[in-house]
Amino acid sequence: MTKSANRDDYAEIRESVRALCARFPGEYWRTLDRDRAYPTAFVNALTEAGYLAALIPEEFGGSGLTVSAAAAIMEEVHAAGCNGAACHAQMYTMGTILRHGSPAQKQAYLPGIASGDLRLQAFGVTEPTSGTDTLSLRTTARREGDAYVINGQKIWTSRAEHSDLMLLLARTTPKEQAVKRTDGLSVFLVDMRLAQGAGITINPIRTLMNHATTAVFFDELRVPAENLIGEEGKGFRYILAGMNTERILIAAECIGDAKWFIEKATAYAKSRELFGRPIGQNQGVQFPIARAYAQMRAAELMVHDACRKYEAGGDIGAEANMAKLLAADASWAAADMCVQTHGGFGFAEEYDVERKFRETRLYQVAPISTNLILSYLAEHVLGLPRSY
Ligand SMILES: Cc1cc2nc3c(=O)[nH]c(=O)nc-3n(C[C@H](O)[C@H](O)[C@H](O)COP(=O)(O)OP(=O)(O)OC[C@H]3O[C@@H](n4cnc5c(N)ncnc54)[C@H](O)[C@@H]3O)c2cc1C
Repeated sequence: MTKSANRDDYAEIRESVRALCARFPGEYWRTLDRDRAYPTAFVNALTEAGYLAALIPEEFGGSGLTVSAAAAIMEEVHAAGCNGAACHAQMYTMGTILRHGSPAQKQAYLPGIASGDLRLQAFGVTEPTSGTDTLSLRTTARREGDAYVINGQKIWTSRAEHSDLMLLLARTTPKEQAVKRTDGLSVFLVDMRLAQGAGITINPIRTLMNHATTAVFFDELRVPAENLIGEEGKGFRYILAGMNTERILIAAECIGDAKWFIEKATAYAKSRELFGRPIGQNQGVQFPIARAYAQMRAAELMVHDACRKYEAGGDIGAEANMAKLLAADASWAAADMCVQTHGGFGFAEEYDVERKFRETRLYQVAPISTNLILSYLAEHVLGLPRSY
């Protein structure tokens, strides 16, 4: 196993996650990848073991663990060659309800999410026309009596077909009428079981890797007013706060990916013999592996720092963003190195390297692209002029 900064932390959790993941080896993922099928058995196993309820407080049926523990879970999933993207949102999307929901909403949803009976896997923010420019999104929610009527379109709404609920961001006040630039967007919990055939259409999108992502269309969908989370018009801030948790957990997944690539490359470099010696005896092969290791360890420290600051409270925008940036860079560099170390076999399906390579590429773009993190740091940490 690849050494890491604090392997002893959450050792028991790590060990049991590893044991669970061992039931889902490369062949399982390869078959799903070929068919672009959802890893239902894997998601059920993680749910039943309680891992996806790690961040839900015990009073609502979760295990009330720290974000460090949740990060350890997702890191191990990825270090074992599995892919948490099929279900990681179940862990953190509920944070918006936990932080901003009413007591009645928390009671109504959190226990079901904790047990897995309610799947809150879908997060509808991105739209085709506005992309990263979230404040320009066009999906509207207009109040009509005791309901809001939703019209518009989301894109890249992952896991929508495998979710009971969707956390949706929509505009309730036209942009030009909003008092503050960041006002006017609201968050809704959409019950997709009721919405199917009553104003919602979900179209799957086939992608580079096996990722159950979709485009979702809203046509006069009525959502009960009681499903508004928090205050009308304040949704942008609620969503931003939740994104820090997402960034930390995805950064942890990238660290897990990097460890998987490093371990795989090291083992191959030791066993593949050419010119009468293992290829790993050549410094031209060793050094890229060693460099990927150093890069992973540095990024891992940043993830741990972000976790610590998260647990201490306060604004962790900079740390969460830097953790995501550095971990995604480390996993992508390790992926590239791993393909190179394997030579032609890096391209062969049966080695799983090419699959993991495709999977980890996503994190340069989602849930936030590298450029947007850099512009956040430039503006909010370094005080450089706002670029957009
Ligand atoms: C597989 C997948 C799953 C996803 N799942 C979800 C999901 O579940 N829910 C959800 O809401 N979204 C989801 N997303 C969307 C994801 O968050 C966005 O793709 C990402 O934030 C980038 O937005 P965009 O694709 O609209 O790119 P754009 O915003 O169009 O940007 C295109 C490129 O231009 C760059 N760019 C844009 N503006 C600037 C600027 N001002 N300065 C410098 N560079 C800039 C970006 O960095 C990017 O590289 C998913 C995306 C993918 C691919």
